Amino acid sequence: MLSTETIATFRSQMRGTVIDPSEGSYEDARQVYNAMISRRPALIAKCADVADVMTAIRFAREQGVRVSIRGGGHNAAGLGVCDDGLVIDLSQMKFVQVDQATQTIRVGGGCTWGDVDHAAHAFGLAVPSGIIASTGVGGLTLGGGLGHLTRKHGLTIDNLLAADVVLADGRMVVAGAEENADLFWALRGGGGNFGVVTSFLFQAHPVDVVCAGPMLWELEDAADMMKWYREFIVGAPEEINGFFAFMTVPPGPPFPEHLHLKKMCAIVWCYTGSLEAANAILEPARSFRRPAWEHFGPMPFPMLQGMFDGLYPKGLQWYWKADFVKELTDEAIDLHVKHASELPTMHSTVHLYPVNGAASKVAKNETAWSYRDANWSQVIVGVDPDPAKKDAITAWARAYYDALHPYGAGGAYVNFMMDEGEDRIRATYRDNYERLARVKAQYDPENFFRVNQNIRPQTGATA
Ligand SMILES: Cc1cc2nc3c(=O)[nH]c(=O)nc-3n(C[C@H](O)[C@H](O)[C@H](O)COP(=O)(O)OP(=O)(O)OC[C@H]3O[C@@H](n4cnc5c(N)ncnc54)[C@H](O)[C@@H]3O)c2cc1C
Repeated sequence: MLSTETIATFRSQMRGTVIDPSEGSYEDARQVYNAMISRRPALIAKCADVADVMTAIRFAREQGVRVSIRGGGHNAAGLGVCDDGLVIDLSQMKFVQVDQATQTIRVGGGCTWGDVDHAAHAFGLAVPSGIIASTGVGGLTLGGGLGHLTRKHGLTIDNLLAADVVLADGRMVVAGAEENADLFWALRGGGGNFGVVTSFLFQAHPVDVVCAGPMLWELEDAADMMKWYREFIVGAPEEINGFFAFMTVPPGPPFPEHLHLKKMCAIVWCYTGSLEAANAILEPARSFRRPAWEHFGPMPFPMLQGMFDGLYPKGLQWYWKADFVKELTDEAIDLHVKHASELPTMHSTVHLYPVNGAASKVAKNETAWSYRDANWSQVIVGVDPDPAKKDAITAWARAYYDALHPYGAGGAYVNFMMDEGEDRIRATYRDNYERLARVKAQYDPENFFRVNQNIRPQTGATA
């Protein structure tokens, strides 16, 4: 229990707001994107600047309360919030500075990808991120970052040049190739285990208008389409990215009425080149099976990034299960089609994101993100607005996962995992885990930052 005086002193040291459960703003401030998560922190510190982050860390240490770090609040397992502890909420720490000369972008630790896309696009630039603009830069980057530009420009971490980090002892350090290189290695895939990143420095790329959008096929064609796709995407030019999806067609524009609420399969493309070249590359997809519908064409990159934001607002129930996949066998494909034909709700979906192309050119121990040899990161998500559907979407996702997991590569992308225990985390980092545990011991020996996909510090270790 924190006394009123203790909280008042903490407040007086902060530029940002400190919210306690007695305040009207508390209910809203404790919510995260996944409405299946409901946690009640003792305090939420909406930090205004780096000094606030340092103060919040020192306060938590002195008072012996656990902390969670909240970037965009999107995490599947709700790892941005914790019960009874202090939430270090970075949502007010938003700034994006574009350096045109070097095509680098410095991003505040509380930004969403929509903030970055907006600022970068004005200069004809983009940083590789995910597929939803409302996702936080912090969590997505530190977990790896898979999205529309992965095959061309790699994971988000492959474009990270440096980070400002406030450590567990309250000091701020810079992590980069030259400074604290071991910390920099660990940050690139190791999640929020090592400190609070107050700003990220990214290498951006000239990506302005892309040729992009979904093509949809009937579920009867899904097995054949998936077999076609598994060959195509592994050998395709890096300029084309396409993630495979099972989905239910939303009942509204731009989808044609005759497809509304129909279960279908899709590939969502993104090509960084001309429409003429895109059409030439995608001719085999169209001629193999004519899409039942498509919404493909030139669009500004931020439009693609925001394409699904309206469909997936904050406050839905989400249950996630994930695997890395090396081979999509015929048997696995049959199981996909079987379970996808039982999609329990309109929002529930399955995605297979390519990991090949530029992302696979980085060695598996060059960053903490180990699965460079996977071809896909697969995620099965049961989603619905209605809390009464929680059990149904969870049961469906688990059954789907149980059937497909034996065909997986072992681990799963940390950003697509719920709270699944240490074995799953070890399986994900493979032989990078021991080094991560040594770096953790050096920078956070007491496991102060433990509300995350936790890497336990290796006691007695030096990194
Ligand atoms: C709708 C949706 C779509 C998604 N699409 C993609 C996608 O296309 N590609 C992809 O790779 N991932 C995707 N994700 C997963 C996403 O990467 C994770 O949910 C990620 O954790 C979200 O980051 P956040 O900052 O919003 O999360 P938060 O819940 O705020 O934080 C999650 C964890 O990240 C850490 N963290 C966050 N910010 C910081 C920081 N500044 N410093 C230190 N630690 C920090 C903390 O440990 C925290 O526990 C998606 C998620 C959702 C819900």
